[in-house]
Amino acid sequence: MNIKHFIHRIRNKLNPQPELPDDVVLKFLNILEQARAEELSCSEIHARLDEFVEKEVETHEAAKITPLIREHLDMCPECCEEYEALLAIVENTKEE
Ligand SMILES: [Zn+2]
Repeated sequence: MNIKHFIHRIRNKLNPQPELPDDVVLKFLNILEQARAEELSCSEIHARLDEFVEKEVETHEAAKITPLIREHLDMCPECCEEYEALLAIVENTKEE
């Protein structure tokens, strides 16, 4: 076996070309994004939204306590809408 050739190949694997075409980078980011979105499904978010809103109203640190839910809300407009509606209701109830 040609060791030099072998090392060269490994090095290429470890240091991929710095200039990746944009569409390759975008594809990769899309895959990452999808993987992240799958960490929590919308129904799981809905099940925990009450809890999240309560924490937010009480401590204003819900995003720190449960960052995964916050991340999902940032990515998912449907859940975010749900969250904002719920938050508005809870805050209104509190003021009365
Ligand atoms: Zn969602």
